[in-house]
Amino acid sequence: ATPLRTLDPEIYSALSSEFARQQSHIELIASENFTYPAVMEAQGSVLTNKYAEGYPAKRWYGGCEFVDKIETLAIDRAKALFGAEHANVQPHSGSQANFAVYTSCLPLGAKILGMNLSHGGHLTHGNPANFSGKQYNFVQYGVREDTGLIDYEELAAIAEREKPAMITVGASAYSRVIDFARMGEIARSVGALLFADIAHIAGLVAAGVHPSPFPHADFVTTTTHKTLRGPRGGLIMCKAAHAKAIDSAMFPGGQGGPLMHVIAAKAVCFAEALKPDFKTYAQQVVKNSQALAKAFVARGYKLVSGGTDNHLFMIDLRHNLPELTAKKAQETLDLAHITLNKNTVPFETRSPFQASGLRIGTPAITSRGLVESDMDEIATAIDTVLKAIGTDGETAALASAKERAAKLAAKYPLPYKL
Ligand code: PLP
Repeated sequence: ATPLRTLDPEIYSALSSEFARQQSHIELIASENFTYPAVMEAQGSVLTNKYAEGYPAKRWYGGCEFVDKIETLAIDRAKALFGAEHANVQPHSGSQANFAVYTSCLPLGAKILGMNLSHGGHLTHGNPANFSGKQYNFVQYGVREDTGLIDYEELAAIAEREKPAMITVGASAYSRVIDFARMGEIARSVGALLFADIAHIAGLVAAGVHPSPFPHADFVTTTTHKTLRGPRGGLIMCKAAHAKAIDSAMFPGGQGGPLMHVIAAKAVCFAEALKPDFKTYAQQVVKNSQALAKAFVARGYKLVSGGTDNHLFMIDLRHNLPELTAKKAQETLDLAHITLNKNTVPFETRSPFQASGLRIGTPAITSRGLVESDMDEIATAIDTVLKAIGTDGETAALASAKERAAKLAAKYPLPYKL
């Protein structure tokens, strides 16, 4: 067989560059991680050749005896990992999983109470450009301006007034513990279903480092590629009563053939997450996040909510660098080989394209092996660059930050081969 290098040099060249980028950059995007080589082995396997529409033992195609075994293992491991009554491992992504939840139980136009997107919610929680915002009538709750914490009192009052059919909880940029028990009480008090989207914190939940949404939520979805450290994909879990509706909303409702190579990779990641080592990993993710947050506070930065209980935190640049947009900060840090993303902060005063928040997460650097004592180096590198932007010292600051990033990358190599 002709190797990729020879068969398609253009793709091979971009792939090699991405490989080198991942090796040499410090990855602080909160939704990213470095998965296990065994996950990549499963994903890059002959399973990509197989069509398996349907579910184990109920397929539309022949030759499914081995993929049935794989999907059943994935389902059983997901259930064991999260203590769920039912699991569907077929969603191609977190968004597909959320699509299935809404469509499994809500008529078009139903009212859903979801978290304000600029306060940390996700696109699929009612953005007008997303299917969720187009197909359902979303009303929103958010965080308090003074504390940066979810305002449960306000949420209860809105729920009482609006009587939504469902309440969605979960975020892409919220650094504190979510009180799922309280959300469950509020949902039940108004007769709403509770849907917890734990895409970001799933690994922490699996490891017992963040409280579980079970038994409070009727539906739980997650991505498998963030703190869970698996392949890019989605997962739905629910109470047994909703199992049939969820399965048909996923297939044939929202997707055709499942990606069996990804499902095998999900099964591998669930097995890894069931091992004691994963608990240590998840604890270290939070320790690193808290150490890095502290290092920024010590350098005069303000964090939304003042700190973090999980794998991420948000810097509000308006406090000490009011002229600097998050867009400019992100782009300049890229030049220093430090990767993170701009994000709106609650009560944002800039456009989402410019934004005032820097979202910083530790799942990827923790997979790489970094520990608390490395966090000062990262904070120093970022701080040096941010404070030098637009000054005569910018070039020197970039060079010194890049050198710090290179040293850390060399100290903690990634376990991949090109
Ligand atoms: N839900 C939340 C809270 C997320 O943060 C994300 C992704 O960032 C998703 C859902 C969607 O995941 P995907 O990008 O796989 O569609």
